[in-house]
Amino acid sequence: MDQTITASLLRAEAKVTLAGPALVMDRLCDYFVEHGRMNRSERSARIDFIYGSASVEADDDSLHILAEGTDATGLAYVKWSLAEHILGFAEGETPRISWTGDGATGSPLPYFREMRVVSAANVTPRMRRVRLKGPDLARFATGGMHVRLLFPPRASAVPQWPVTGEDGRPVWPKGEDRPVMRIYTIRKIDVERGEIDIDFVLHDGDETPGSTWARRACPGDIMGAMGPAGGELPDADWYLLAGDETALPAISRILAELPAECRATVLLEVADASEEQLLRSSAALDIRWMHRNGAPAGTTSLLEEAIRGIAIPSSAARRFIWAGCEQKSCRCLKRILRKEWKLSTSEHQVVAYWRAGHTADQVEH
Ligand SMILES: Cc1cc2nc3c(=O)[nH]c(=O)nc-3n(C[C@H](O)[C@H](O)[C@H](O)COP(=O)(O)OP(=O)(O)OC[C@H]3O[C@@H](n4cnc5c(N)ncnc54)[C@H](O)[C@@H]3O)c2cc1C
Repeated sequence: MDQTITASLLRAEAKVTLAGPALVMDRLCDYFVEHGRMNRSERSARIDFIYGSASVEADDDSLHILAEGTDATGLAYVKWSLAEHILGFAEGETPRISWTGDGATGSPLPYFREMRVVSAANVTPRMRRVRLKGPDLARFATGGMHVRLLFPPRASAVPQWPVTGEDGRPVWPKGEDRPVMRIYTIRKIDVERGEIDIDFVLHDGDETPGSTWARRACPGDIMGAMGPAGGELPDADWYLLAGDETALPAISRILAELPAECRATVLLEVADASEEQLLRSSAALDIRWMHRNGAPAGTTSLLEEAIRGIAIPSSAARRFIWAGCEQKSCRCLKRILRKEWKLSTSEHQVVAYWRAGHTADQVEH
């Protein structure tokens, strides 16, 4: 008997009528070439992601799209992403996208979990760790370390959550029931206990839904989590990891997972010495803490100055640089890495985690 196990893919299809299908397909390909493995001919394209694939075919008046996922979350991500970008690239048109196949309209989002606070305590004066419990967290342990957290309005007696829309994008509750969404990092996950830890920076500001929610979080509070996504680094022998407090959870997790053969230089900007944390890793670490000493977050050039002092290994070595910080700082770091150090895109990733004077919706990642 043939013992071969074939992974069964989940699939959904849609025909999208458009005025200029070929142009929309070109734009899709230009965008997705940086996000997956692209195989394209004039009228068709296939993009493979880690969690599934998208196939697109253009004829005279429509795009025929096929989404495949390695699981329900993977399929939902492909459908969501295709719909989001087709709608964005079909300028002046609002085409109807109606999927048939796996993943029904109106059903709960497969990547959503309702979570309940188990405990909340400060790990440093301005960093609060909230432990959350939720069902079926195995999928949150693979394929990325970030989550979108959904904070229901305080007045909501029964929190309302988004569901799967006809076009594959989430459909959000309307008006005052709509939860606020912010992106955070899963600092630690225990699938067996069904628990994740999130470390929240308790930053200044008048209206700060994420930070304020964490400050007030008490056992029993309900919130939502959608994920996981992003944050996986390629294999390398030498890493440079740089960031401010918001990236400290991601850097801690990356370090905890590095193998012993690796070396990592770590540059961390925090408010002062009381915000330093113990970082554990099997890799050989060179950790340098930098203190703002009273300067507000997002106003110093500590990270840029520190990165300029680093001796980067030659291009013969497997090296990778990762940074997460405020948007302006992030732009300076990108300039140094790309223009001065001439690193290829496969050798670095710099992500804006927040933007001084703007809410999270206005960050350009
Ligand atoms: C991939 C990713 C992972 C992230 N992981 C984490 C994490 O694990 N822990 C964490 O704490 N944050 C993390 N962040 C950053 C977090 O999402 C932002 O700081 C977010 O703006 C916080 O939302 P808020 O509702 O508190 O403030 P917002 O409503 O977004 O902003 C309100 C005001 O607060 C200011 N502000 C926002 N963040 C800061 C800050 N850190 N310091 C000073 N002022 C600030 C804004 O400039 C604005 O003026 C992550 C971001 C990304 C993109």
